[in-house]
Amino acid sequence: MAGLRVSPGLGMGSARVVGDALQCRGTAQPIGENEVERELSRIRAAFDQTRTELRESARRVEAQFSSHLADIFRAHEMMLDSLLSSDDFSQELRGSLLSAGAVVRRVFRRWREKFQSLKDETLRQRADDIADIARKVLRHLEGADGFGFKNLPAGSVLVVQRLLPSDVVSLARHHVAAVVVESLGYGSHAALLAREKGIPIVAGLPGILDNIRDGDEVLVDASRGEIVVAPDAAMRAEFQERLNTQYATLARCRGACHDPAHTLDGAHVIVEANLGAYEDVALAVDNGADGVGLFRIEQLYLARELPPTEDELLDELRAVTAPLRNTPLTIRLLDVGGDKPVPFLHFPVEANPALGTRGVRLLLEYPQLTQTQLCALLRLSREQPIRVLVPMVTLEDDIEAIRRLFDATCGKLHIEQRPAFGAMIETPAAALSVPAIAKHVDFLCVGTNDLTQYTLAVGRDDPTVNRYFLDNHSSLLRLLGIIIADAGAMPLTLCGELAGREEMIPQLLTMGFRSLSVAPALVPGAKALIRTLRLAPPAD
Ligand code: PEP
Ligand code: MG
Repeated sequence: MAGLRVSPGLGMGSARVVGDALQCRGTAQPIGENEVERELSRIRAAFDQTRTELRESARRVEAQFSSHLADIFRAHEMMLDSLLSSDDFSQELRGSLLSAGAVVRRVFRRWREKFQSLKDETLRQRADDIADIARKVLRHLEGADGFGFKNLPAGSVLVVQRLLPSDVVSLARHHVAAVVVESLGYGSHAALLAREKGIPIVAGLPGILDNIRDGDEVLVDASRGEIVVAPDAAMRAEFQERLNTQYATLARCRGACHDPAHTLDGAHVIVEANLGAYEDVALAVDNGADGVGLFRIEQLYLARELPPTEDELLDELRAVTAPLRNTPLTIRLLDVGGDKPVPFLHFPVEANPALGTRGVRLLLEYPQLTQTQLCALLRLSREQPIRVLVPMVTLEDDIEAIRRLFDATCGKLHIEQRPAFGAMIETPAAALSVPAIAKHVDFLCVGTNDLTQYTLAVGRDDPTVNRYFLDNHSSLLRLLGIIIADAGAMPLTLCGELAGREEMIPQLLTMGFRSLSVAPALVPGAKALIRTLRLAPPAD
């Protein structure tokens, strides 16, 4: 079957089909009539735990964001109470004589369908709230993630309808051989997190959940965008051969990956790593990254049910970054909104999220959220050198305002050695305003993923326009040329996906980039390639 290559690589394994959390997945256990009360109290206990969690969410969201956003959790708590006070669970238990998990799924499914069938759009959207509450209740009831992404058997090929960034954060590379997904945008954060983890993904396969069964053997060739279900022996042997070649090439490149990369004519090119998930840290170190050009702090938010407190954030940052003590480390402030929903936040619905309150706009709108991060980062900076990076800048005013917050927090915490402070250049407005933005920062980092989205008017999350997502389009390259010229001597790193594309690296270096930040899996290959290049003099 042919689909779209979203994250390259090869993977083979046994399919794990994960559908809707509310669909029964064969876990229904028959029970006797005398066990109904016991199952009912299990359901009540799961509701109690969910209520406690929702209250804690409301408390933390109110402290860090606003009372308005916290209201969503209060509303969920009210829904939870009215759901439990209905007689549906006990009736369903007595009628079906099935265990609590199956009954909870059935009842929630009925409620969701009821809302889905309503005419009023606002009420129809309640169906998502029902699914959200159900996921929480099921997690408490069954002790595992409601969607079953965690604890996948080693070497699984995950088959799913959709993939969110928070789902990818919880996927472990050594467990997931590959992912097959019905639809996914090439530029989505879920896709790039997967590329960073080196997890192969093929997308664009409508109806795939009906064509693969749990346990089927699947070969995923995400470099060509093809999958084979239930291969014969010859196909399997040929695929295994290609996998072996892939490992051997990687091993060859890794031989010299810890040395600096110089071109044949002596230009030093820094190759750093983009980190989006905890396991990437070890890979970045093993693969010889010269530093971390972009640490996406989102990973510490996306995988949580509650927003972290300052101490929790600092503890997690310490734990995650400990192996990077002696490496230059750039940590980006939270970039959520747009295609990066956070499980514990339900921001007001925006008609055009990618053009709405995202990145630095959100940080400025919720100063307490920003303060928590700045304090945690500045406390970390006492222990190891870091750089602080601001996402999605469009106006000089944005960077000026957040710089003021940064300076004030440094003053409050008596930070003598202030970390370098930088701005992402990832909107056309920022690309054309580098001289103004540069007045307020110590370094710049170019994000070609968003720059492509906003320059080519192509939603990075929208699979129907994947063919417009051209991050090497001439318009983009012109903008990059302007950024390089206007940045002058200011340190400049290219950290979008483009930086890791081997066919583009020669041109990027000729344009003048000397610092690239790429997915950890790509560091050895990029360094090996750079060592074979002789640079033409940069065009005037
Ligand atoms: C980018 O936009 O290129 C970038 C590096 O940031 P992110 O992909 O996290 O939006
Ligand atoms: Mg970006």
